[in-house]
Amino acid sequence: MKSIKITAAVIEKTGAPFVLQELEMDGPRADEILVRIVAVGICQTDVHVRDRVQPPELPMVLGHEGSGVVEEVGAAVTAVKPGDRVVLSYDACGQCRFCLSGRYTYCEHAMAINFGGSRLDGTNALHRAGAEVHGHFFGQSSFATYALASERNVVKVSSDLPLELLGPLGCGLQTGAGAVLNSLRVPANASIAILGTGAVGLAAVMAARAAGAHPIIGVDLVPKRLALATELGATHTIDARKEDIRKRIAEITGSGVDYVLEITALPEMLKLAVDILAPCGTAGQIGGGVPGAEAPISMSRLLLGRTVRGIVQGDSIPRIFIPRLIEMHRRGQFPFDRLVRFYDFKEINQAVADSASGDTIKPILRISAA
Ligand SMILES: [Zn+2]
Ligand SMILES: [Zn+2]
Repeated sequence: MKSIKITAAVIEKTGAPFVLQELEMDGPRADEILVRIVAVGICQTDVHVRDRVQPPELPMVLGHEGSGVVEEVGAAVTAVKPGDRVVLSYDACGQCRFCLSGRYTYCEHAMAINFGGSRLDGTNALHRAGAEVHGHFFGQSSFATYALASERNVVKVSSDLPLELLGPLGCGLQTGAGAVLNSLRVPANASIAILGTGAVGLAAVMAARAAGAHPIIGVDLVPKRLALATELGATHTIDARKEDIRKRIAEITGSGVDYVLEITALPEMLKLAVDILAPCGTAGQIGGGVPGAEAPISMSRLLLGRTVRGIVQGDSIPRIFIPRLIEMHRRGQFPFDRLVRFYDFKEINQAVADSASGDTIKPILRISAA
């Protein structure tokens, strides 16, 4: 099989910085799509995996918010052709009962196919000096100059928007916006609190405003993020370092909020999410926390019609939802360009550090010219 040379950000050791290296990658199989990566967003999940991945999955290439141009397609691919501009998203098997009923984000194989470090059949396209390198992260591993995707996770996008801006739509932005619009279906004039106003939370703020929610309450520890939440549609903000969240929510809403989106993945914040819900309210939980994390939720509060549900990728079907978000962006309803800051590929570790400090909300690495 023909092999191509790529440059990729490789993790050699758990928690160690990314190292740019030359690798070899097999060409696309019949059902695969070779994409030249133009840019890739960095998501918290990349950092969590970097800090937890253990041998034998190392070395490994991450990256799952890629955008790029189709270079070559396998013989069975009909959805895209060379030259098409695409955004890459999460992968799903397409065959299990959850996929067949349109619930792709809850695919039975979601963990193996997105986090397994190989194709579902256990093979890998990446090599280094003849030895295997783990990849296929979210069906892409796009911290690289080229990636292999499939028809299930490529979304063709139009050419009137800068391609380097669009990668984060494939994970972080569709997660926040989809949680509000697809999962919770927040109606006009319903109240919502968003716990954590990083990239996912700010996407949720914009979507809540587009849905006509009121009030929209952003909660965070970083003043800069809260200021941006206000600019993007939050009617109230709570600085959790200085203010009592329960007290402030009671002051703003009286009986509690109709919806809560919990994005911090801290157990005490999921407990708080239930504590601040109005009767019959729904809390959406995004992020599983550290392995084994459990939250002590009040059973008596839950009894009064309150619901807690987990949400993956905002229940988004990328080929439907990403074009919708792009259309909202065109109409000024989803100005996600306000969240991003661009870095060169070789600045990947700086970009991660700036994201951790709250200095940058959504870093995007430029990999090649559009
Ligand atoms: Zn499936
Ligand atoms: Zn992500």
